[in-house]
Amino acid sequence: MSPIFDDLNPSLIWKHFEEILKIPHCSGNEKELGDYIISQAKNFNLGWKRDDVGNVVVSKNASPGMEKAPGVILQGHLDMVCEKNSDIEHDFSKDPIQPEKKGDWISAKGTTLGSDNGIGVAAALALMEDKSMVHGPLEFLFTVDEETGLTGATKIRSDFLQGKILLNLDSEDEGTFTIGCAGGADSEIHLPVKRRDGTEGELFCLKLFGFRGGHSGIDIDQGRGNAIKLLARMLWQTEKKASFSLASMEGGNMRNAIPREARANLYADPARIETLRASFQESFDKIYNEFKSVESEAKFTLEKSKADELLPLTEESQKTLINLLVTLPHGVLSMHQEMKGLVETSTNLAVVHTHPEHVQIISSSRSSVASGLEATRDTIAALCETIGAQLAQPEGYPGWTPDLQSTILQTCKDVYNKMFQKEAEVGAVHAGLECGIIGEKFPGMDMISFGPTIEHPHSPEERVNIGSVEKFWNFLTAVLAELA
Ligand SMILES: [Zn+2]
Repeated sequence: MSPIFDDLNPSLIWKHFEEILKIPHCSGNEKELGDYIISQAKNFNLGWKRDDVGNVVVSKNASPGMEKAPGVILQGHLDMVCEKNSDIEHDFSKDPIQPEKKGDWISAKGTTLGSDNGIGVAAALALMEDKSMVHGPLEFLFTVDEETGLTGATKIRSDFLQGKILLNLDSEDEGTFTIGCAGGADSEIHLPVKRRDGTEGELFCLKLFGFRGGHSGIDIDQGRGNAIKLLARMLWQTEKKASFSLASMEGGNMRNAIPREARANLYADPARIETLRASFQESFDKIYNEFKSVESEAKFTLEKSKADELLPLTEESQKTLINLLVTLPHGVLSMHQEMKGLVETSTNLAVVHTHPEHVQIISSSRSSVASGLEATRDTIAALCETIGAQLAQPEGYPGWTPDLQSTILQTCKDVYNKMFQKEAEVGAVHAGLECGIIGEKFPGMDMISFGPTIEHPHSPEERVNIGSVEKFWNFLTAVLAELA
């Protein structure tokens, strides 16, 4: 072993983790790591199978006398997010990750480390190898492409697994159990618009920018401003006081990001532009005052724009578009009643994009309750029906509803309490996880997720806490013994 892993415990996890660092395994390129798992399964005389997408399952018989114990699935994902600092030469398709030890942390030199989910995978390999454990029948599930589309989990065949208890090893906060996640689905609105025959006045661009944005699930409860919604609010308020003709609106570019900026191109009489500006300023001041504690960098500008190829919208189309954007829901819609601080349902008004004959608007909704997601999409559908907009609502991905009565949760809580003389935290995330998809495919699967402490995953600052890996391992093996 290289010196930095020499005296780390548990040595079996670090041994396999060191091997994983040498094998390229960005999302979409997991084949070689799958081969390594299979080669290890063969070494340890364990059964294995691989499906068409590249998911691998390894089976290990129960330890002697534990054959009647319930089967347990241990799950992790093979792929990692590959990000590097711009001043580093690194080819993720062939160069090994260069680990570094600083105090009680392992990180990588200028790149992501892949401890998400490399430590989980290494723990599974260690369990495959270790003959000293007490456990029932085990299945080790390694999925592909978690990071870019949950593809591996989505494509698992329903006969691929036998166990009814699943321990997902992909959490990032030692001492916290994750027992739920949100499902998600989009609504794509197609609003037909009509345009005038000619232009009057000059073209101006109203721009709202400097907002913080963030992840539409994780950050939705942070009270940040949605630039599209707020731009629509400025236009709606000003429409009552000063005249302008809207030609286009643009804002947001990703479904899973809160829009940071938005702009509207509009025609107005240059002689009266200061009246218009004063009205926008008045609206903006109110917005700034409301959001200043979170959005101190928010700004707006109203500037002359170069000629736009689009003619202004008719009065009716302009009204419909602005009213629609003002009315469409955005943000947290409900909080979970039992789990303090967990957002249950939310929606992100993510994108507005103008075409010559229609405006496209996308809202991305999430909920840990399927009916909450349905109701949110119904609200959007009802609104579209009222104004005659077309709507597509493609199938989304399922959530994982927290079950505070779950047997595996109770077992984990008891074991944790006994081992560490303190209560573990129990939480859920307002984003998609593989457990949501697996739970839908295998009804009745009792699931929980935990792992060591990993900071800044998906960035070159990623680091895993050494001490937490040992705690994670001791806890994991104790849970398996308790279940046997
Ligand atoms: Zn992960």
